[in-house]
Amino acid sequence: MELKITCIPGDGIGPEIVTEAKKVLDAVAEKYGHDMQYTDILMGGASIDVHGVPLTDEAVETAKSADAVLMGSIGGDTTTSPWYKLPPNLRPEAGLLGIRKALNLFANLRPAVLYEELAQACPLKQEISGNGFDMLIMRELTGGLYFGERKTVEENGVRKAVDTLTYDENEIRRIAVKGFDIARKRRKKVTSVDKANVLDSSRLWRAVVEEVAKDYPDVTLEHMLVDNCAMQLVKDPTQFDVILTENMFGDILSDEASMVTGSIGMLASASLNDTRFGLYEPSHGSAPDIAGKDMANPIATILSASMMLRYSFDLDKEADAIDSAVKQVLRDGYRTGDIMSEGCEKVGCKKMGDLIVERIK
Ligand code: NAD
Repeated sequence: MELKITCIPGDGIGPEIVTEAKKVLDAVAEKYGHDMQYTDILMGGASIDVHGVPLTDEAVETAKSADAVLMGSIGGDTTTSPWYKLPPNLRPEAGLLGIRKALNLFANLRPAVLYEELAQACPLKQEISGNGFDMLIMRELTGGLYFGERKTVEENGVRKAVDTLTYDENEIRRIAVKGFDIARKRRKKVTSVDKANVLDSSRLWRAVVEEVAKDYPDVTLEHMLVDNCAMQLVKDPTQFDVILTENMFGDILSDEASMVTGSIGMLASASLNDTRFGLYEPSHGSAPDIAGKDMANPIATILSASMMLRYSFDLDKEADAIDSAVKQVLRDGYRTGDIMSEGCEKVGCKKMGDLIVERIK
């Protein structure tokens, strides 16, 4: 299969971790007979330095012409970098918002996986975290409270602010379909999270999710109120497979879920549109404090590349090969600094990539 991938190395540790992810993809391509073609584009600070803006129209066009986008991370030290003296619409993060909008990426997927080997990083008690857990938060990314009408007014000398939470049934249906499709590739359970005891938008959410569920009789659907879900994530995270939820709830719950894994350098993510196209990136930032020192953990980006194979290209066997190579490296006792523990061997970014490649070949 011929795969056209646009890469955004970005800033900070971005170029280092993307290099390792490409190495792993090349190993998969060689083993399974695929042809990966990469085109790099500039975004974030790297684009500001060359073009004066964080994202050019040409870069967007290149991304659109690919089958998927693999990104490192963008941004610099927000207190010292000259990029943050620019107006907000010219700062690195504006590039990310711009590309998400241009590519219509409405579905955000963030797996939160606690590997047995990294159990000591989990802030939960061992009887709660069990033998590890593996859930995926599917968050609606382009609607709801963050995109509704907002205003601040003064009435009779009293300041008043209004934010509006709006969803139409089409917005809910398309994210629900994605959630059920992805549950089918996993353990076939969807937990739809809302606040249907209070909010009309949540009652519509629940009704539409139930309609969509009828097309997926093999997937179990349960509903959970968002406040209960926040508790359940720390009480019994092993119960979850796919958590399907709206924008603001997903924003909060996905951060909570990633914190309970305790390892930011391990967490992948994907943002998808209504075709098979997606942008794949680690959940962490550009870590300027360790950039260029061969200290970054490349695993979140490597697992993002695995998600790309699974969700944009339907190459499950190849994605499984990456996931199990990562597990094997952890089992063999190799760790980057951020996940280091006693008795393990500490390795750099490049070496971690090499070890994963060795286990794929
Ligand atoms: P960060 O995630 O970059 O770093 C937080 C801490 O985690 C740092 O100590 C860092 O060294 C460590 N860390 C992060 N990723 C790591 C990895 N792969 N291996 C080892 N250690 C790792 O968050 P921050 O410091 O708040 O942000 C730095 C910059 O990244 C900012 O400009 C911010 O805006 C940007 N950012 C970008 C994205 C993105 O590109 N999607 C996301 C979040 C933050």
